[in-house]
Amino acid sequence: MPEDKPLSFSTLETFTDPTQDVVDELQFLEESSLNREGYPLPGGWKVIVVDDEEQVHAVTRLALKNFRFANKPLEIISAYSSEEAQQLLDQHPDTAVLLLDVVMETDEAGLELVKHIRDHLNNLFVRIILRTGQPGIAPEKSVIEGYDINDYKTKTELTQQKLFSSLITAIRSYRDLLTVEESRQQIASLNQQLEDAKQNLERKVQERTQALQQQTLALAAKNKQLEEEIQAKLYAQQALEATNKKLDEANKQLSLIANHDALTGLANRRRFDEYLQQIWKQAQREHQPITLLICDIDFFKQYNDTYGHLEGDICLRTVAQKIYQTVVRPLDLVARFGGEEFAIILPNTDLAGGQVVADRLRTLIRSSQLPHRGSAVCEFVTVSIGVATLVSDSPQSLAHLIHQADQALYQAKQAGRDRVMVLAPTE
Ligand code: GH3
Ligand code: MG
Ligand code: MG
Repeated sequence: MPEDKPLSFSTLETFTDPTQDVVDELQFLEESSLNREGYPLPGGWKVIVVDDEEQVHAVTRLALKNFRFANKPLEIISAYSSEEAQQLLDQHPDTAVLLLDVVMETDEAGLELVKHIRDHLNNLFVRIILRTGQPGIAPEKSVIEGYDINDYKTKTELTQQKLFSSLITAIRSYRDLLTVEESRQQIASLNQQLEDAKQNLERKVQERTQALQQQTLALAAKNKQLEEEIQAKLYAQQALEATNKKLDEANKQLSLIANHDALTGLANRRRFDEYLQQIWKQAQREHQPITLLICDIDFFKQYNDTYGHLEGDICLRTVAQKIYQTVVRPLDLVARFGGEEFAIILPNTDLAGGQVVADRLRTLIRSSQLPHRGSAVCEFVTVSIGVATLVSDSPQSLAHLIHQADQALYQAKQAGRDRVMVLAPTE
């Protein structure tokens, strides 16, 4: 290896290329980081040499002629004043290293350029190697402390080898800074993507939530409407049911009034006629006889005359009640036939059966001992009963049956009252 002497910035001719071996060695050392891509240095690592002496530029270029780092050469740019350096930095923001002289147009022109680069251009990447020929004007300690530089060399100490080493260190540092910056930007970009995705997701969730809320509200409204409709229908139904109930009651009342006698509560003549027809049809179908009793209170005119019409009414009710109690079969019907006359329809009952009922009735009324001073036959209320029967295959009509029973009653009256008279069916 040739002797490593300080670079002679004054005698260009004496310069040889003594560090070719070092270059090879350095290149070898950087093999592992060769061919790394992504650096903005397609043409090589940009190095701006800032110095007001032309010779310094020439010697530097010569000294670094064979320099390579990470398989890239240098692209050396020359500036002869700090002002020119500023312009070049604007044009080459990807400058890796500044080899900067201190004393140029002013004693501190180089130092002011450092401030400008860091504070105004805000370029924190470019590596700045200060090379001063007059360390007295810019002493290392105060410069290193006061300015954001990366290396300080006096021109006298700077051998080619040291220049190489300084540059290698600076470029590596620059490259690492870029790598870190690139990673930082990638992370920032990823963070931004994540943030965008998150916001997108949040927006979608919000939209979906809003849509769901609207659907829920619409459903709730629909539900409420349905509930109200159901409620209204229920009310209408209840009202209808109440009306129907009242109507039923009114109908029952009407039917009661239409079919019953107000004084005794028994079926009236209208109901008697209707029921007799109905039962007669049934009897004919089933080949059953019908027996009819007509029961008349004896001397009732005298009763009224004796006790008064109101008492007469009470007596009528009492007799009606007793008749009603006597007749027990479900199909039997007791009706008030006329003033003090009662008719009893006994379906599916023959003449003998009718006579039994009639006797029991007559006996009951008499044995009830309802006082009757006006009666010519007994001191108590008595009744006369006519009994007649119509057999199912008889050609006779219901009118005939009534007539027969009436006739029997007449005969009972004629025979002395307080008795039962039976009239056998005629062909
Ligand atoms: P007979 O023994 O022949 O049946 O004599 P009677 O007096 O019972 O018969 P009549 O037909 O001559 O008189 C029936 C009387 O019944 C006439 C009337 O004063 C009375 N009467 C009819 N309907 C009512 C009524 O609703 N209330 C009362 N208190 N009396 C009535
Ligand atoms: Mg009478
Ligand atoms: Mg009478």
